[in-house]
Amino acid sequence: MTQSALRHDWTQAEVLALFQQPFNDLLFQAQSVHRQHFDPNRVQVSTLLSIKTGACPEDCKYCPQSGHYNTGLDKEKLMEVQKVLDEAARAKAIGATRFCMGAAWKHPSDKDMPYVLQMVRGVRALGLETCMTLGKLTREQTAALAEAGLDYYNHNLDTSPEFYGNIITTRTYSDRLQTLAYVRDAGMKICSGGILGMGESLQDRAGLLIQLANLPEHPESVPINMLVKVKGTPLAEEQDVDPFDFIRTLAVARIMMPKSHVRLSAGREQMNDQTQALAFFAGANSIFYGDKLLTTANPQADRDMLLFQRLGIKPEEREEHDDEVHQAAIEQALVEQRDSALFVNAAV
Ligand code: SF4
Repeated sequence: MTQSALRHDWTQAEVLALFQQPFNDLLFQAQSVHRQHFDPNRVQVSTLLSIKTGACPEDCKYCPQSGHYNTGLDKEKLMEVQKVLDEAARAKAIGATRFCMGAAWKHPSDKDMPYVLQMVRGVRALGLETCMTLGKLTREQTAALAEAGLDYYNHNLDTSPEFYGNIITTRTYSDRLQTLAYVRDAGMKICSGGILGMGESLQDRAGLLIQLANLPEHPESVPINMLVKVKGTPLAEEQDVDPFDFIRTLAVARIMMPKSHVRLSAGREQMNDQTQALAFFAGANSIFYGDKLLTTANPQADRDMLLFQRLGIKPEEREEHDDEVHQAAIEQALVEQRDSALFVNAAV
């Protein structure tokens, strides 16, 4: 099925009908679609590193990194490039195929861009897929990231357009869609999804998936997050999502975007093994190890590998890049590593 053969005209009524099927019918349909496009026993593994933490000017009500809320989070300036590359090498050594770097910014500044571009080139030269999430981009910044070899840009829509204003007031839904359009125009892959458990309705969950599936091309990666309730954020007391409703959302995402990787994302650590197994059955085929992987002995990674083993799941191999592009990235990174002055002063 080519991108153009995929559907981009989903209606609210159709999507609600998918959600409202009996659970077993929905899962059977989702698993059937999944098997047409993916090996059902492979799950892609990404690693996430926060390259700049906290003090974000945006007011996303779910986020401990927002400067609007007092969550006791330790703030950190932009990491030095070499430290990021060291963390990427460690992630690769334990099996990650994609390295995602996130910065708590409204948008990257011109001063930060050279360091960010070096990170992309360096991580790519290690043979990892690269992903970044840096906030809103200009067309020029997007082109520079693409030129450096960035594979994916993460920019979540979070929820439906109708509910968005209840969660974030410092930017608009159309800002988000504009950045996604720049990313697509520059030839990069899109990672975009949302969060469940913020007080949204079923209509809002359907609305989010409709926005994603009705983009001119489906995002290659669709993270579906379960709200992690953090003390100090306005959503700290929200009601838990019924795990079956969460699984239903994964299944509907799988049916609507059959060729996308659907990622079981934040909130996974709070799920038991049975819920995670059901999520894989519903068509989720990507996980984050999370950034704890890089800072602790990481019992979570051990638990993940044990669960994979018990379920007969194997990590998905990395997509091969064009060799010439890969070699160019390696050479560029080697040149940059010799320019030590840039590394020393990477932190802003
Ligand atoms: S833009 Fe990102 S880092 Fe900033 S508050 Fe929102 S979710 Fe958090």
